[in-house]
Amino acid sequence: QHADTAMYRAKSLGKNRYELYSEELTTDARYHLEVEQDLRQALKSNQFVLHYQPQFNLEDEQLCGYEALVRWQHPELGLLGPDKFIPVAEETQLIVPLGWQIIDSVCRRVERWLRDGIDVPMVAINISPQQLLQADFIQRLNGLVDQYGLPRHLLELEITESMILKDPDFVIQQLQRLRLSGYHLALDDFGTGYSSLDRIKYLPLHRIKIDKSFTRDIGRNPKDEAVIISAIALGRSLGVEVLAEGVETEAQCDFLRRHECNSAQGYLFGKPVPPEVVSQCAFKKLG
Ligand code: C2E
Ligand code: MG
Ligand code: MG
Ligand code: MG
Repeated sequence: QHADTAMYRAKSLGKNRYELYSEELTTDARYHLEVEQDLRQALKSNQFVLHYQPQFNLEDEQLCGYEALVRWQHPELGLLGPDKFIPVAEETQLIVPLGWQIIDSVCRRVERWLRDGIDVPMVAINISPQQLLQADFIQRLNGLVDQYGLPRHLLELEITESMILKDPDFVIQQLQRLRLSGYHLALDDFGTGYSSLDRIKYLPLHRIKIDKSFTRDIGRNPKDEAVIISAIALGRSLGVEVLAEGVETEAQCDFLRRHECNSAQGYLFGKPVPPEVVSQCAFKKLG
């Protein structure tokens, strides 16, 4: 992270446009324009790759899923994390074509895993508000998934609380249609958004993902622990599974197990890795 920033700074001294990727300038209009142009090029030349991070069921200690996380293989800057470009992609609507590339890439990968005899658990995909607000989103999604011959229940779509604010009635209707189509739905970054607890009961969710900012302070901040305990209780009473994000230590994991959190994701179990690594591990387990 520091090395990155230093590199951008160094380049910026040479009045290179990569100064524009520096964090201080992310609100700058020029930054957006430059990144937008780079993003358009990146979409054309397939510079986006997905890494997959495992999710574990805390009850039976089994792998229960993977989350697909996008990275940009930038020709000059190397591998960039989503925080460097998703905000601009969202503001410029480029998240819509990027989102389709991501969904297509996940489907192609899952189809291949299945063909290779790998027992694929659920694979989660992050969905941005603008994708869901497209009137033809579900029709096109179904078309794509059917084209790859995938069972829909293998895919989990992750949405965030802020999404619901845009157009609550339409979004809730879209989510209901997605659920009826057979997809799993997860509420990402739970606890960080603005949604009222009242609205959550209208969302046809399978899972709530507790944000990693709460997990981080397990054992350090009783208030964060209280939020986690309440989220687990909320999930249980709504009949929705609860996953904790950002689990890095055994102590955090013990706490979550003790409070009967269903599943967990984080560096303790594995970092996001390229799909080839996932396949190798799966084959190792089988063989
Ligand atoms: P998210 O969906 O909440 O993803 C979890 C983030 O936490 C990922 O960061 C992951 O690498 C990171 N993480 C996982 N385990 C740990 C841990 O133990 N400790 C810590 N400190 N971090 C952990 P990443 O990959 O940088 O993604 C950041 C965000 O970018 C994601 O948050 C998601 O909101 C967005 N994003 C990622 N991929 C996509 C995508 O394909 N489409 C869209 N629309 N957004 C995406
Ligand atoms: Mg996510
Ligand atoms: Mg999250
Ligand atoms: Mg997030």
